Amino acid sequence: MSHFQIRYWGVRGSIPVPGQRTVRYGGNTSCLEIQTEQRRIILDAGTGLTQLGATLKQPEHLTMLLSHLHWDHIQGFPFFSGVYRKDFTIDIVSGHRVDNSLESVLKGQMQEPNFPMNMDGLPAKLTFNEIHEHEQFEVPGTVISRVALHHPNGSTGFRFDGGGKSFVHLTDHEHTPEYDESIISFCQGADILSIDTMYTPEMYPNHVGWGHSSWLHGCEIARRADAGQLILFHHNPAHDDEAMDAIGKRSRAEFANTLVAYEGLELEL
Ligand SMILES: [Zn+2]
Ligand SMILES: [Zn+2]
Repeated sequence: MSHFQIRYWGVRGSIPVPGQRTVRYGGNTSCLEIQTEQRRIILDAGTGLTQLGATLKQPEHLTMLLSHLHWDHIQGFPFFSGVYRKDFTIDIVSGHRVDNSLESVLKGQMQEPNFPMNMDGLPAKLTFNEIHEHEQFEVPGTVISRVALHHPNGSTGFRFDGGGKSFVHLTDHEHTPEYDESIISFCQGADILSIDTMYTPEMYPNHVGWGHSSWLHGCEIARRADAGQLILFHHNPAHDDEAMDAIGKRSRAEFANTLVAYEGLELEL
């Protein structure tokens, strides 16, 4: 029996790009689901969240982690079916300190004239929590740790340990020139490392300081951290399916056990 069942519902960075060019890898923005025996965990609320929501039928108490509050990581929230159900409790957790609180940023996204429904009127029971550097917390059966990433306005990476297995998800993140040792050690020995690799090595020099890495940086972090498998994530909206195929091929030459995330990808640990 696996401890973690992981599903990718949105793999794209910045903006949704549906259409014929992206039909195999998908066009929705950041959203993952981690199902354990005791708890469903949602990781980011990009547009992929709406399709996840359509699968939820029973009353639930779930945990939603937000890496940060850029649009491509929260824009699915107002359209998530779970928030319109009074038999749902959603614990929303961010590791991302902002001037305004997590709650006020999400409220701001659901205010007239940008959205017809105010967050205060949502039927679901919502809680808002922030975890800070070097803190851990637990959901039943799983320890969740966090690390600060390098990204404009900040971002938070999460590590999930349970049942002797480990899964690490880092988005959005730009490697530093010397590869930040605190991040390498955070990822150390992960069975699966899922990481923002928005650029090719050729694109990266023109995007220094934009807060994202190349697939080559991802391979290097996976190698240094001795990760079991590398998942490339947060795809560039300009990259069509053929471009993603080519990135996967080049990445596997650097780190053999690499997979390019696509919508619907399921992993078990
Ligand atoms: Zn992003
Ligand atoms: Zn971002």
